[in-house]
Amino acid sequence: MSIEHLIRVIPDYPKPGILFRDITPLLADADGFREVIDRLAERYQDKQLTHVVGIEARGFIFATALAYKLGVGFVPLRKPGKLPSATYRYSYQLEYGEDSLEIHQDALSVHDRVVIIDDLLATGGTVLAAVELIAQTQARLLECAFLVQLDDLSGVQRLADANIPSYTLCRF
Ligand code: 5GP
Repeated sequence: MSIEHLIRVIPDYPKPGILFRDITPLLADADGFREVIDRLAERYQDKQLTHVVGIEARGFIFATALAYKLGVGFVPLRKPGKLPSATYRYSYQLEYGEDSLEIHQDALSVHDRVVIIDDLLATGGTVLAAVELIAQTQARLLECAFLVQLDDLSGVQRLADANIPSYTLCRF
């Protein structure tokens, strides 16, 4: 089955009026999940990455599998208060509410070259916060990659306006 068909729509979650794209059927499908990781690994295998950066929580699933496959490290971007050492923090607007992300200050340096991975791009607020955090570490950001992008929201355009390359496996 194609990746698109393994992502289901849940109406009115987490609030009335939101059409939530649920990726758990894809994760539960061995061939679908492997195809996602293999396609990302093919794209990044010769790009001299030092780390894959994943956004909590669903981004971790893809970022860790990709890091393992590429033989590079994994760096988590976490919700506030979850990382134990000194952090950089950035606050942003969500499709529903406001949130912040943090990164350990010593997780990356100017010598590192990374991609950011999340499950889904909607308004772009989350990934733009991630981009700001990577900039604070001075690591080089190659690209942001997503399993899904929602074309009727502004995320793709906001990334393009900020000159941040992005790559997506499927779009709705
Ligand atoms: P954005 O910040 O681009 O508006 O929202 C993207 C973030 O919210 C991602 O971290 C993603 O996990 C989460 N998100 C927002 N809407 C959905 C959705 O419909 N499905 C899934 N799986 N995640 C969503």
